[in-house]
Amino acid sequence: MSDSAHPFGRKARALAVIDPVSCTGCGYCAMFCIMKCILLRPDGLYEVDAESCIGCRSCKVNCPFGAVTILPPRQEV
Ligand code: SF4
Ligand code: SF4
Repeated sequence: MSDSAHPFGRKARALAVIDPVSCTGCGYCAMFCIMKCILLRPDGLYEVDAESCIGCRSCKVNCPFGAVTILPPRQEV
């Protein structure tokens, strides 16, 4: 994925992904995300904005339901 702000793709860094099956919509992850990149979806669950996530793991540590997975860094093109 590329855009004008990131012409060479997202930098290699870890990425948080929320499992919509395990997520209860409690919102703790969003409260603790320093990048404010966990967004509330219209269906009440939460989603990580992959372009802004820095992979800090704060959301994973603070999710009481184990719904967050941290993917290892990879270079996207
Ligand atoms: S803390 Fe976990 S269960 Fe709560 S909204 Fe975030 S991902 Fe979903
Ligand atoms: S890993 Fe850090 S920056 Fe990425 S969504 Fe979780 S709390 Fe936010």
